Amino acid sequence: MDMQNLISPKIVKELMMRHGVAFNKGLGQNFLVDRNILKKIVDAADLKKQDLVLEIGAGIGTLTRELAERAELVVSVEIDKRLFPILNETLSCCPNVKVIHGDILKLDMDNLIKENFPDRSFKIVANLPYYITTPIIMAFLEKELSFEVMVVMVQKEVAKRLAASPGTQDYGLLSVAVQYYTCPAIVGTVSANVFIPPPKVDSAIVMLRKRSVPPVELKDRKMFFRVIRAAFGQRRKTLLNALTTLEPEGGDRQRMEWILGKCNIDPKVRGELLGIQQFADIANALAEYNPANSNK
Ligand code: SAM
Repeated sequence: MDMQNLISPKIVKELMMRHGVAFNKGLGQNFLVDRNILKKIVDAADLKKQDLVLEIGAGIGTLTRELAERAELVVSVEIDKRLFPILNETLSCCPNVKVIHGDILKLDMDNLIKENFPDRSFKIVANLPYYITTPIIMAFLEKELSFEVMVVMVQKEVAKRLAASPGTQDYGLLSVAVQYYTCPAIVGTVSANVFIPPPKVDSAIVMLRKRSVPPVELKDRKMFFRVIRAAFGQRRKTLLNALTTLEPEGGDRQRMEWILGKCNIDPKVRGELLGIQQFADIANALAEYNPANSNK
């Protein structure tokens, strides 16, 4: 089956019918049927012949084939066993593709990487299942896996949050968390019509390039993530009120006020105005002036 076929909605439907498989909306099965968008994704990943690629969600193999044409090896994880007979057919032309059955959030990723990409960095390229976009992105970042770049199709709203700057409506916990690990860029927005069936929302291709050095120095990374979670947890509260919910370090309101003063931050501002450096300053001050430590 040539590539042309998989971007024809009619042929995709016939292929699914022939194998007795219906689209599973609950699994985010919206398959790409647009050559330009496929090219845009692969171009953004800047694939070279020696590149190793991890794809999340093979679907019927549309993007997988495009990736296989440019890279050395593509490992694709797909949760839906029903699609495997279709993938056998559509990927028969690609000896450099390995499809693994499993849930990307449950698989032992360290092992998968050790087995398939030993001692090499890899690229993640995917048209993500939208019901788990954020958990997938955060899981790959928090586990500190050795990928260099992630080029993913996500909901447009999520893309805006990933790339948002302080003081904007879309800026929040996800922006700070992702920008701590990566430099995000929106490659382009994508209409729902390039998928079959079309999803209910518009989409965007985003590129998350892993930072080689963190943008801020942290004394205690867990503390940093607790601070941003608290600061954005109650968006309408002032920073002081939001951070006072941090127990035990912020529990004492006066102490928290003193910590913010030490960082030259107005306790009455809202968290959404702070940049990553200011969150780091607060977390570092809390770690440094920890009453639990001084009692020892
Ligand atoms: N790559 C194909 C394309 O571009 O047309 C399919 C993309 S489709 C948006 C997302 C795919 O992810 C579906 O095939 C779905 O079955 C699969 N998927 C959903 N949840 C998954 C999970 N937890 N782990 C692995 N794959 C999953």
